[in-house]
Amino acid sequence: MKFAITTLGCKVNQYESQLIREALKAGGYDEQDFSLPGADLYIINTCTVTHRSDAEDRRLMRKALAFSSRIIVTGCQAAVYPGEIRGLSERIETVPFDQLESVLGVPFPKSITDFADHSRAFVNIQQGCDNRCTFCIVPSARGTPRSRPLEEIIHEISRLFDSGFREIVLTGINIGLYDGGIPALMRKILERTPMPRVRISSIEPWTLTSELISMAVNEPRICRHLHLPLQSGSDEILSRMGRPYQAGYYRDLVSEIRSSSRDIAIGSDIMVGFPGESEEQFRETFSLLEDLDIAYLHVFPFSPRPGTPAASYPGQVDARIVKDRASRLRNLSKDKRRSFIRSQIGKPEEVLVTHSSGNSFKGITSNYITVEAQGKAEVNDRVKIVFEESCEGYARGRTLG
Ligand code: SF4
Repeated sequence: MKFAITTLGCKVNQYESQLIREALKAGGYDEQDFSLPGADLYIINTCTVTHRSDAEDRRLMRKALAFSSRIIVTGCQAAVYPGEIRGLSERIETVPFDQLESVLGVPFPKSITDFADHSRAFVNIQQGCDNRCTFCIVPSARGTPRSRPLEEIIHEISRLFDSGFREIVLTGINIGLYDGGIPALMRKILERTPMPRVRISSIEPWTLTSELISMAVNEPRICRHLHLPLQSGSDEILSRMGRPYQAGYYRDLVSEIRSSSRDIAIGSDIMVGFPGESEEQFRETFSLLEDLDIAYLHVFPFSPRPGTPAASYPGQVDARIVKDRASRLRNLSKDKRRSFIRSQIGKPEEVLVTHSSGNSFKGITSNYITVEAQGKAEVNDRVKIVFEESCEGYARGRTLG
């Protein structure tokens, strides 16, 4: 029996696809490429955070429908909008992730041992969110916060180390809600596993503590990288988004991090075109971001999600204006990335090799800079380099020693 799986969206989805993959393989299935015919089972693990993700989900469903095989759709779109999916074809089964084990008839492992096509493995530590930001459909798909048991996390990280992984990324829906706090979890991971690098994925700014900042700055095995979604620099928009902080809080947070380290990478998510966002409010966001000493931005146009309060808010912003605002912020992000990389020129750093070819390699630093350098190295090696040159979106490095 053969299966094929494709995954859209966030790191949590990618983690769950890996669980599905390992369960099916242990149950006697072989995996094949999703784009090819011939599999007995096609699985689409969907995302629904924007209308674009929904469209991409549907494109992949149509692709699978062209093959006369069993099709299972799981993930967030299947959890929130199953009727729309079934409307596409009666041949599609929509199965929430937590029912997949019984539908597939294979036991799901408690932890993963590999991470297909990735040189860094994601480790899911938490599910769900109860903040109810007014634009976000995720709590409807993922439920209320639940933390994964510590022993499962430790066991998984140790197994991933044994499989050759040298960096893991802690992921979840709102990881700052982890029971007992991320710093306590981090200390256990550092004490009880040999994993040389632990990265924290996106963490909501109101859940970031001074203790965690200090660990990210001072503990060499924790990556010097914090991704803190801001969403908007306008207090009025933040309030209508249901975000429990103001722009000044975010500014102070970035200053606190920056005053502890010049080298830590700070990233942010920004949403443009939230209903009612005026040019003046967009400028507030732009000028806050111009001032902040951060390394990059991920920019998302607002996408009305049926079932969320913001989908029916008045003042939906014209698509051309949204596009223009997104493009201005993406250009700002390029400038930020360039100047962050420039600030590192001449400094030594360790690169975790993610791609190797002949006499050159590519990898990622603790502070989230992609580096290309000359020299022989294998994937997962950790190589000392010095930053030499800032290129478009990445750095060139010289291998040391
Ligand atoms: S904090 Fe807000 S944006 Fe993040 S998952 Fe919860 S509701 Fe969604």
